[in-house]
Parts: sequence; C-alpha cells; structure tokens
Amino acid sequence: MKPIPFNRAAVTGRELEYVSRVISAGPLHGDGPFTRSCHEWLERLTGSPKALLTTSCTHALEMAALLLDLKAGDEVIVPPFTFVSTVNAIVLRGARPVFVDIRPDTLNLDETQIEAAVTPRTRAILLVHYAGVGCEMDAIMAIAARHGVPVIEDNAHGLFGTYRGRPLGTFGLFSTLSFHDTKNLSCGEGGALLVNDARYADRAEIIREKGTNRTRFYRGQVDKYTWCDIGSSYLPSDILAAYLLAQIESHERIQRRRHELWSRYAADLASWAPGAGVRLPVVPDHCTHPAHIFYLLMPSLEARTALLAYLRQRLILAVFHYQPLHLSDMGRRLGGRDGQCPVTEEVCDRLVRLPLFFQLEDDDQARVIEAVTGATSG
Ligand SMILES: *Cc1c(COP(=O)(O)O)cnc(C)c1O
Repeated sequence: MKPIPFNRAAVTGRELEYVSRVISAGPLHGDGPFTRSCHEWLERLTGSPKALLTTSCTHALEMAALLLDLKAGDEVIVPPFTFVSTVNAIVLRGARPVFVDIRPDTLNLDETQIEAAVTPRTRAILLVHYAGVGCEMDAIMAIAARHGVPVIEDNAHGLFGTYRGRPLGTFGLFSTLSFHDTKNLSCGEGGALLVNDARYADRAEIIREKGTNRTRFYRGQVDKYTWCDIGSSYLPSDILAAYLLAQIESHERIQRRRHELWSRYAADLASWAPGAGVRLPVVPDHCTHPAHIFYLLMPSLEARTALLAYLRQRLILAVFHYQPLHLSDMGRRLGGRDGQCPVTEEVCDRLVRLPLFFQLEDDDQARVIEAVTGATSG
C-alpha cells in the first residue's frame, strides 16, 4: 500500500523551463519580466487595479498593516479561526486584535457579531474567506461603511472564489494571496497584495521596495531613487515569479482537477455523513469556491482523534487546523480566555481536512473515501 500524503504542490510542466529562462537571461532580482507577467495575470483574473507579488501572504498582510499605519492603541477586528499570520500582522505594529467568533456554517467571521466589537479605536476589519467560501460581504461592507473603517481580506484560500459573482479579494481596500506550497497555486513560498484603491498604489510599491521609490525608477518615472518612507524587502526573486507564472498559466487545469476531487468527496460522502454525525462543508448559493479545502466536522474531539489514527494506519495522511488563536500562548498573553469564541473553540477540536491536491489520483481518492466511511461504520 502506498502512502497518500495530505498535500503535494502541483507541478504542471513549464516551471523548470521558465526558471531556466531567468537563470540564462536574468535578472534574478525581483520585478523582472516574470513578476510583471504575474502582476498582469492577477489583475486580469481578479479585476483588481494593482497586484504586487510578495515573498509570502504573511508579508502581504504586514504590508497591509503598514499601509494602514496601524499603531499602539489601534484595534483590528479579526477571527480567531485562522493562520497566525493574519493576526501577527496586527500585533507587529503594536495594535490589538479584537477576536470575533465565526459562523457555525461557513466558519467565516460572524457578521452579526462585528458591530458589537467596534469601538472608536477600531481601524480595520480583517477577515478570512475560509476555504475560499466568501464571508457575508454585503453585511460586512455595510458595517464597515457605517463606521468608516476599511476591510482587509486575507484571501490566502480564496483566489478564484466569488461572492455574488464578484471575485473574492476585490471587496476590501487591500487583500492578500498566498502561493505557499499548500495553496492551489504555488511557488514554494510566495504571496501577493492586491491594492483595490489606486490611491494606495504608490505607497504600496515604496513599502515593498525597502521604503524607496525604486519601482518608479525602474519604470523611468524618476531619474534616481531615494528613501521615501518606512518599508522592507517584500518582493520575491524573478526565479520564484517564473515558477509561479507557469502555475498561473495552468490555473484552469489545476482548478478543474481540484473541483473534480472536491465534488467527488462531497457526492460520495453525502449519504454517509449524517448517519455518522459528520457535517460536510457548506457553500451558500451566492458563493463559488476554489476547491481549496475539503473538511469534515466530526461529532467530537474523540471521534476526530480516532479517525486520524484509523487513516494513518492505512497510510493516509489527513490533518486538522487551526488552534483557536485567542487560546494560544500568545493569544492568552493578549487577553484571550476560554469561552470567548465558542464556535471557534468547538470547531477547532472537530475539523479534519482530507487529502486534496492536483496530482491526487482517482484510485487514491477512492481509498480515502473508503477508509473514512469504514472508520465510522463500527
Ligand atoms: C497560508 C495562509 C497564510 C500565510 O500564507 P504564507 O504565504 O505562508 O505566508 C495566511 N493566512 C491564511 C488564512 C492562510 O491560509
């Protein structure tokens, strides 16, 4: 029996060819021709006016925090059911994350609880489209407008997802993407910042280039470049952009296969799940998702532990995430306490992610489905 990993990064064929082109023709540094092609693609795919590749989604989130001038005393509303980077970006600026719980169905920020968390110090609502299923953007944008605070979308899961026909990542002032090798498209480590208000575009370029206007200099818009603002080095090498471009160009193939796999899990597990006390992903009618995650919500922590062990015996690697951030060591130091976000706390104990990746073969997926349904049949 061969092991079935949880994830393998997609390889679609032209990655090496593009990388060799960078090696032979250069430049190796950032913002070369491959980076520019990736920017154009991302702008075309999302409709955002400005895409900037970054070294990670983590760094794109840090750029968003810098662009907002977050500082000590500021508050940012954020779900505790997310990867640490979402919240680190806030804390690195000295600002305070204000955790708002998630909805039990989509596992997205619960829009009905946002308004109660808004204070005069609220500087942003930073949300995550979990599994690439859109948050309730109509309600959230209305709350944000009422209080005059921007929305930032951590769209690490949601490239190609839509909410009422509009691409995720285009609602907020800024949004971020991840090209980590666990994501649908990847270059190992990488990300992007989408700047949806053109007034922030120049400053975003400056922050990304060590606080200098080197990007304008490269475009011939200034005859020398200088230190203009705070910033850091957030741009990836064109080697990574070359790899990523091969992936972006193959996005239809990658997405088609991921959707086939996702839909098969949904179809083949649908009749089994209710009897086993398991809930499958919920996708509202007004959302389309990018087949990033297929999860099971088990009836209890014990049932989850048992399922993961059963799958492991059959050489199938399934995983769980996240740790409720308000209950992590750092979260508790920031004031997090048990019972603060009950839906998150409960979901984090029960969630299982099944293997879902471009190269997963039909037979292997059948083995996963058989094992999952067999594990709970007695
Ligand atoms: C993967 C992920 C990140 C971090 O992405 P990197 O590119 O690894 O920095 C941030 N937020 C969410 C929700 C993620 O899933």
